[in-house]
Amino acid sequence: MTTLLFVVAIVAAIGAMGYKRYRKKSRVRTAAQRLGASPDNAIYIRSFDEMDEHMRQRWCSCGGFLETTGEGTREADGRRFRVARMECHECEETTEVFFDTTDLLQ
Ligand SMILES: [Zn+2]
Repeated sequence: MTTLLFVVAIVAAIGAMGYKRYRKKSRVRTAAQRLGASPDNAIYIRSFDEMDEHMRQRWCSCGGFLETTGEGTREADGRRFRVARMECHECEETTEVFFDTTDLLQ
């Protein structure tokens, strides 16, 4: 009986490891396709209020809280971007969120 429990525990541990690895892989993939992950799929905003709104609703793909650590501007292909750097409190992953501010109302 003890042996059986031992085997069950090992199988469970191996299963959890594989699942974690699988989750991490799919996480990286979805992170790249996320809205705002690159200038190509930047979040279109008309005001900085909209930008704040988006950042409030943004969570790390691990479920952790994202803190804004910096902001900058970038220009590419005649469009203007506001880039927010965010860091996760849980996994410490840093991400950049692109906002298209070309038509921003001043
Ligand atoms: Zn995270």
